Amino acid sequence: MTTPTPLVAGNWKMNGLSSSLAELEALETFVKEQAEASCELLICPPFTLVAAMAVKAGGSVKIGAQDCHFNKSGAHTGDISAEMLKDIGAEYIIVGHSERRADHEETSDTVNAKAAAIHGEGLSAIVCVGETEEERDAGQTETVVLGQLLVSVPDSATPTNTVIAYEPVWAIGTGKTPTVADVAEIHTAIRGALVERFGEAGKEFRILYGGSVKPSNADELMAADNVNGALVGGASLKASDFNGIIDAYRS
Ligand code: PEP
Repeated sequence: MTTPTPLVAGNWKMNGLSSSLAELEALETFVKEQAEASCELLICPPFTLVAAMAVKAGGSVKIGAQDCHFNKSGAHTGDISAEMLKDIGAEYIIVGHSERRADHEETSDTVNAKAAAIHGEGLSAIVCVGETEEERDAGQTETVVLGQLLVSVPDSATPTNTVIAYEPVWAIGTGKTPTVADVAEIHTAIRGALVERFGEAGKEFRILYGGSVKPSNADELMAADNVNGALVGGASLKASDFNGIIDAYRS
């Protein structure tokens, strides 16, 4: 078994204009001038910036997208396919983010179809799962998360083409985080479910933690059992904050 290289991924959500390309440049300067980080770096800007950022990225930061349609092409006004994103340089696509599940009523079956489409293009899917505050309070965290995982991850998943992101909904953009012990517990349960389904390969999938990760808490969250990186929203918008999170992977 090989230990997976951690991934620190930024999700810019619906933020960023062409002037934001400067943040990519600043991040790449930090990465070049500071101690090398033992992790892979990714930024997922809005669709409008994917092409420009993929052209600008100098190699130390990969570029991805935040969603795609599950069909390759066709009569889907306003949608974007995985093939189109591949065409403009995206390497990863996030699917099943809780904001998509809530705002667009995406089900785990839809997420599964999107992830399979991403695999079909030879790209990597970041499949998000996570419980709401009500579900957590009702003691349903593991049931909800493992249920979403089972349906959302297609059979085509491998440790190379799929990353799991555990993102408790109540921790996203709120400044609240679970305890390190709680993160370790659910990540270990996710690992167990991946091993049960994919055998030895299940040990090599990266499982990211996401939800109010910032420079001040990244060290302890990234050190938790079965945490192989972070999915970062707000703190990925400014290169200096994102770089502070990457410090968790610098010695
Ligand atoms: C996210 O949207 O994936 C996220 C983790 O957001 P934040 O870091 O802002 O909580």
